Amino acid sequence: MNFALNMNRCAACGSTDVKVENGTYICRTCGEKLDHGMSAGDLEKIQRAVLGGDQKAAQELRAKYSDLDIVTWSSADRLQN
Ligand SMILES: [Zn+2]
Repeated sequence: MNFALNMNRCAACGSTDVKVENGTYICRTCGEKLDHGMSAGDLEKIQRAVLGGDQKAAQELRAKYSDLDIVTWSSADRLQN
């Protein structure tokens, strides 16, 4: 999976299923239409959580967004020996 920093995510629920149309971010997951996507700071937090295993960042993200499709640590631990 590619978690590039420039990936568009919904600022309301965190879903990646976002379509950008004329500067409007339309989320197919929660139906929000916003004039911005997820902040660069939170996108970076996702990278830290997913690639760096930063549990604190993952916790903050989960508290804030309901539809993050990032791998949970308990299941990741089971997958990796
Ligand atoms: Zn959304």
